[in-house]
Amino acid sequence: MFDTLSDRLTSVLQNLRGKGKLSDADIDATAREIRIALLEADVALPVVREFISHIKERAKGEEVSQALNPAQQVIKIVNEELVAILGGETRRLNLAKNPPTVIMLAGLQGSGKTTLAGKLATWLKKQGHAPLLVACDLQRPNAVTQLQVVGERAGVATFAPEPGNGVGDPVDVAKRSIEEAKHAQHDVVVVDTAGRLGVDEELMRQAADIRDAVEPDETLFVVDAMIGQDAVTTAEAFRDGVGFTGVVLTKLDGDARGGAALSVRQVTGEPILFASNGEKLEDFDVFHPDRMASRILG
Ligand code: GDP
Repeated sequence: MFDTLSDRLTSVLQNLRGKGKLSDADIDATAREIRIALLEADVALPVVREFISHIKERAKGEEVSQALNPAQQVIKIVNEELVAILGGETRRLNLAKNPPTVIMLAGLQGSGKTTLAGKLATWLKKQGHAPLLVACDLQRPNAVTQLQVVGERAGVATFAPEPGNGVGDPVDVAKRSIEEAKHAQHDVVVVDTAGRLGVDEELMRQAADIRDAVEPDETLFVVDAMIGQDAVTTAEAFRDGVGFTGVVLTKLDGDARGGAALSVRQVTGEPILFASNGEKLEDFDVFHPDRMASRILG
């Protein structure tokens, strides 16, 4: 994903090397180039503005270090600011004091929710949990089967409406899944919800109804990092319509410019908990802002 951005930033910062002292003009020129690199990577404008203003302020300020030369100093500042827009500290999954922990997945169709359910289940199993996947996407004909297949691959149980009962009510399925989890001693419930191709009110209302019925410990907004600026508008719509406690970035293995990944935390104010970077169940990990920043700075 961040190849172009990474190359650009590395070369901008490379230009500073060897300079004994940085003038305000040097810092302004560097900031301008970083700004262009971020905009070209599709980072949302307000995020770029804030980022650049922090960099300038800090680079021109009193941050003198004996140990670092001026170029290293700027690199350090850029790195720290990248970590900050990505969320600062790693945010761990919030587990309920009284199991089951309920995790609800929300996002557009195709964002990778069902795939994520399987990845999350695999990861949770490795952490010693006994997850239950719940099929509340009853809109798309194949969604239930797809979740069951993913569950089988991950080696975890799936809760779905009984076949032959019509389309079924996702709120009812969600409620009953909690009883099932208690009964069968699943300590984490992962609820997959319906997604549409675009944001729509009915989808939001349904997700909100499921949320009210199961009171999730975490509502994770799943967003395809390849959709660029749309990620930000979609995130805002979901924040206002359903609300969420964390973000999962998917398709970080794609060759898009990656601006979504860099904007969504700052714009929504909610932390990125996990990142997905492939179609296999193992292509998934906890999101670490510091590691992502290091990756971008090469
Ligand atoms: P849903 O509609 O939100 O449930 O999305 P799906 O889980 O069905 O995913 C949509 C498509 O994206 C499928 O073809 C997945 O294999 C693919 N996909 C999901 N996550 C990733 C990822 O991290 N990387 C890549 N390359 N593809 C992914």
